[in-house]
Amino acid sequence: MKKIVVLTGAGVSAESGIKTFRDAGGLWEGHDIMEVASPEGWRKNMEAVLEFYNQRRRQLLEVKPNAGHYALVELEKKFEVSIITQNIDDLHERAGSSRIIHLHGELLKARSTKDPSIIYEWAKDINPGDTCPLGSQLRPHIVWFGEAVPMIEMAAMETMTADAVIIIGTSMQVYPAAGLVDFAEKAKRIFYVDPKPAINYELSRAASLSVVAESATAGVPKVVKELLEQ
Ligand code: NAD
Repeated sequence: MKKIVVLTGAGVSAESGIKTFRDAGGLWEGHDIMEVASPEGWRKNMEAVLEFYNQRRRQLLEVKPNAGHYALVELEKKFEVSIITQNIDDLHERAGSSRIIHLHGELLKARSTKDPSIIYEWAKDINPGDTCPLGSQLRPHIVWFGEAVPMIEMAAMETMTADAVIIIGTSMQVYPAAGLVDFAEKAKRIFYVDPKPAINYELSRAASLSVVAESATAGVPKVVKELLEQ
């Protein structure tokens, strides 16, 4: 076994203090997700969307990676590891993982609304009137509901070559990320670490699925230990 692909969702960062939204009944930190994470929401109330992500960014700068993030770094001692994350936080980077694909964008980046290739590192607030050199408003570098997921092809290619897959803290409901398991044709083991595992259609067809119904800080170190010892 050489290559491990890890698919993470909001649950891996929950114990760092960043709330998931499924756990709060479809709200994300008290907000209706379509109001703050869709192109329609942006057109309707740009200020509210900017403020929502400004709050998330400020919160992110105050939290730290947890034992789940750190355990994944240990895997690199023995395996080639690619992390495919639905998260917009940078906690895998801060823990020290080497290869991370952000499917849904990154909170600490801003981009032009006119030319999506103009992207900046951005750790402060994005305010109305902050513009790119073309004069257009900056927006968070986030993939909103209804938008294309440009990194999905790369993520599918990575998953195809995985010898094992670890899925952590995702309700497996947000597509296309939740469908990636279908590409894990070569994987001999699939682990799913989540205190409330949700077996979707793709997972129900997966061979050799091991469900670890625990939190990320408890379950991920166990899975990592098993893989390192085999
Ligand atoms: P999700 O669909 O990945 O669901 C959250 C999952 O985490 C649930 O299955 C829940 O049982 C599990 N969970 C809760 N506590 C956990 C713990 N301690 N350890 C392990 N698993 C735990 O995520 P979502 O909240 O529905 O978010 C979907 C999208 O919203 C994400 O893909 C992302 O784009 C965005 N989001 C990102 C962040 C972040 O960057 N940290 C946080 C919230 C939402």
